[in-house]
Amino acid sequence: KLEAARQMTYVAAAKSQRGDADLTFFGAAAKCYASDAAMEIATDAVQLLGGYGYTRDYPVERMMRDAKITQIYEGTNQVQRIVMARNLP
Ligand SMILES: Cc1cc2nc3c(=O)[nH]c(=O)nc-3n(C[C@H](O)[C@H](O)[C@H](O)COP(=O)(O)OP(=O)(O)OC[C@H]3O[C@@H](n4cnc5c(N)ncnc54)[C@H](O)[C@@H]3O)c2cc1C
Repeated sequence: KLEAARQMTYVAAAKSQRGDADLTFFGAAAKCYASDAAMEIATDAVQLLGGYGYTRDYPVERMMRDAKITQIYEGTNQVQRIVMARNLP
């Protein structure tokens, strides 16, 4: 999922540089997929470390909060899905 998110981001960036007509769809898809993957991966990391993962003494709880905000800002993922639906290739 991490590598898929990276590839989708690179594809969207390339489309942005070229000014491709389907950039809106791919930009929304990359934002949605990468932020959902970040949240899932960070949540798994917290679970892996158990109680230590949850406490502020270790960095993964911060990583999970940082991942969470990426699903909310720059257009929430629900709104990004509406954008994708309206711009289906
Ligand atoms: C820390 C932070 C920094 C930000 N920085 C910026 C910035 O620099 N510039 C900027 O322009 N904005 C910024 N934002 C705003 C951000 O990009 C979101 O647009 C904004 O947070 C969403 O509005 P809301 O929080 O009031 O949620 P609401 O609009 O109240 O939405 C609440 C929930 O309902 C869902 N929802 C809303 N409408 C629909 C719908 N039609 N269908 C399905 N679900 C829906 C949302 O996805 C969300 O889960 C920032 C937000 C935060 C938290």
